[in-house]
Amino acid sequence: MDCPFCSIANHSTGAEILYETDEAISFLDHRPIAKGHALVASKAHYHDIYDIKLETLYEVYRIAQIISRVLRDLYRPEGVNLIQNNGENAGQTVFHFHVHIIPRYDSAYNKVLEKVARKRVQVDESVLAPIGNHIRERLKSLR
Ligand code: 5GP
Ligand code: ZN
Repeated sequence: MDCPFCSIANHSTGAEILYETDEAISFLDHRPIAKGHALVASKAHYHDIYDIKLETLYEVYRIAQIISRVLRDLYRPEGVNLIQNNGENAGQTVFHFHVHIIPRYDSAYNKVLEKVARKRVQVDESVLAPIGNHIRERLKSLR
């Protein structure tokens, strides 16, 4: 299969591997947004949040916490973003489940987020209520 993260997971393509277990692997993103920008991917080929096995998801985030703490201790970023894209419209370009760990060193990125945040409009409870009901109803049927 022609998947870059499967190739990294089975060591047939090189990467700056940071950590790995039977279920998941962490390596540096080759187009880093910031120093230490790392990825944690499942070893098996899951596409996204919808199909990943729960135990594997747990392992990916367990490793994400380990890597985040190490980056914090080593590089002292002001913050860290964990970003996980699902689907093309959400910015996913590699369709093999992975989480980004992006240390934040300055306020430039925060300014971009502020701009986006300022564009959001607060909606009335009457807009949120039917959506809340809809989601809760579906969750109830899953129990
Ligand atoms: P996505 O947009 O799918 O959430 O993120 C995919 C990320 O994987 C991108 O940030 C991209 O730079 C990184 N990436 C894609 N191919 C490779 C690769 O072969 N090696 C490494 N180390 N990173 C990759
Ligand atoms: Zn894959």
